[in-house]
Parts: sequence; structure tokens; C-alpha cells
Amino acid sequence: MDNRISWIKISHHQVGSQSIVEFQNSIVNMNHKVAVFRKEHFNAAHRLHNPDWTEEKNQEVFGLCNNPHYHGHNYELIVKVTGEIDPATGYVMDMKVLSDLIRKEVLDRFDHKNLNLDTAAFANLNPTAENIVVVIYGLIREKLDPKLELQVRLYETERNFVEYPI
Ligand SMILES: [Zn+2]
Repeated sequence: MDNRISWIKISHHQVGSQSIVEFQNSIVNMNHKVAVFRKEHFNAAHRLHNPDWTEEKNQEVFGLCNNPHYHGHNYELIVKVTGEIDPATGYVMDMKVLSDLIRKEVLDRFDHKNLNLDTAAFANLNPTAENIVVVIYGLIREKLDPKLELQVRLYETERNFVEYPI
């Protein structure tokens, strides 16, 4: 916020008397934080079920998502990485590196899988969108440069989506 305020003051105050190059340099040298986004997609099957409850209670709470024979979703994933622009590259993060990281840690693990049966992460964890987004965050966070901020949004349907951290 302070960066932004000082930049606005500088741009209004000095742009008239500065050359365009000096003005551009003054912007670049402010170390602005920028968010970069990578959108990905995976398909997976799941069943929402609490083994501590009766079949009736599971059916009542989870409805169609409690189908004993599982069902699939087309998950849309949006990974947001925030950080300062590296003056050497002009990047917050190399998008190829981010893309490879998401593929290796998330897509290879979950795409075309039965989350309950095929993945260690959900062997004992109900694969709700909420739990999936927290797991995905953890997998990416572990491999991401600690100086970068991370936020993950997961669409389970076009209208239902979750985000972590908030
Ligand atoms: Zn479902």
C-alpha cells in the first residue's frame, strides 16, 4: 500500500518535469508487487463420505456426491503467485517453472484419478473442494520460493469454487 501511494505521488508530481525514460525507471525501481496467474485443469472422480455416519446421514448431507460408485468433476485450478519483479528477468516467476511445478505436483498426482482410491492424500480425508484446495496449496507451497506468496482457487463446477488461503 505504501509503495502504491508513493508511486502515485511521484507519477503526478514529477512526470511533467522528467523524461519518459526517467519516469519509467522511477516506476521499475519501486519494487512493485505483481500477481501472476496460471490456469490448469484436471478431471478426477470422488465420493464424499463420512465413515462415522450412517448411510442415511451421508446421503442427507452429501447428496449426489455420496454416490457409492463415485462420480467425476472437471476441476479448474487457478494458481496465483505474488512477488516483486526480479530486475534481472522482469519476471515475478518464470511461468514455465510454475507450469512444470503444477503439472508435477498436482496434475500428475490427481488428473484422471479416483481421489479416494488412487491418491494417498485422500485415503483418509474427505475429498471436498475445501480439502482438495488445501492439499494442493501444501503441495505447491513446499516447492515454491519462500519469498513468493501463493493463493489457490479451485472450481469444482462453473458456479462452485473455493480459495485458500483467504
Ligand atoms: Zn462431487
